[in-house]
Amino acid sequence: MKLSDLGEFGFINKIREKSHDISGVMLGIGDDAAATSITPGMALLSTSDLLTEGVHFRLDWSDPVTLGRKSLSVNLSDIAAMGGIPRYALLSIAVPAGFSMEFLSSFIDGFLQQAEKYSVSLIGGDTSASASGFFISVTLLGEQYPDRIVRRSGACNGDLVCVSGTLGDSALGLDLLKSGSYSKEQVIKHLDPTPRVELGTLLAELKIPTSMIDISDGLHADLGHILKASAKGAKICIDNTPLSDIFRNSVSKNSPDYYRFPLSGGEEYELLFTLHPSRLKDAEEAAAKAGTSVSVIGEITEESGLFLASADGSSYSAELNCYDHFALN
Ligand code: ADP
Ligand code: MG
Repeated sequence: MKLSDLGEFGFINKIREKSHDISGVMLGIGDDAAATSITPGMALLSTSDLLTEGVHFRLDWSDPVTLGRKSLSVNLSDIAAMGGIPRYALLSIAVPAGFSMEFLSSFIDGFLQQAEKYSVSLIGGDTSASASGFFISVTLLGEQYPDRIVRRSGACNGDLVCVSGTLGDSALGLDLLKSGSYSKEQVIKHLDPTPRVELGTLLAELKIPTSMIDISDGLHADLGHILKASAKGAKICIDNTPLSDIFRNSVSKNSPDYYRFPLSGGEEYELLFTLHPSRLKDAEEAAAKAGTSVSVIGEITEESGLFLASADGSSYSAELNCYDHFALN
């Protein structure tokens, strides 16, 4: 069956039937706008991401359920990076004529699976035809008490630079997907990242991070955003970046990718944050509770600039290109 057989309103009805409102939804899908409430005293956090076929995803690399999950995950990661609690999602899609209903139905299933897992209600969106390519725009609303919201701008001299989970896996996955030869476990983190929502909120509740960001552009670029916002510098030990067993087994230590992927690979969706050294133990406990880990990779300095060094102290100065949609590279 094609989307055109069901029609826009038939399709929206299907989405409505499948979705379950969690709490705080006074009016969900079906009217001109949704009506929702947030917890009294909390601030509303809003984030939006646009995923474009051929730029952010390829339909021959990902099954629709996984693509649906990732569409929400990348937004969940942004709310997590503020220390926020995700609440409501809006899903807008533009679909080429002739797209199968099976594909779209599975895509919605994946999206709703992830929504339910993180207690998010799908409260609306928009559906349009597309002249070419599949477009997915997700807006996610979250909440948090204003004094718990973690910005990019609070890093202090002497703070430790920490990262959750492991780095480099997503870049490795993307590289292998392009090569066409890979195992499922090598590409899973690229296609189906785990947003660190539980860790982000726990850290915020305990007021542990002085600054935080999620790694979507790559460690080098995203730490650069923290440093710029905080008007500080950092020293990073490149041998302290946490690596997964899959990564170690897939990339030779002699390959330039061994450092390049963890330092500049995008779409990791791990949390990068800074904290006072006295809070490290609390952060480690929070990470264990949230089912992940925290690694210290360096230190914030008063002097500006990002200095990368090996364990022996020698400086590391490879070209680290971060992905820029409009750069001529
Ligand atoms: P309008 O013409 O006022 O924009 P629509 O017919 O586009 O209304 O949408 C009807 C209802 O369905 C609205 O509540 C809207 O938020 C919801 N909706 C439309 N597309 C989607 C979608 N892809 N996912 C979730 N809800 C959707
Ligand atoms: Mg509409």
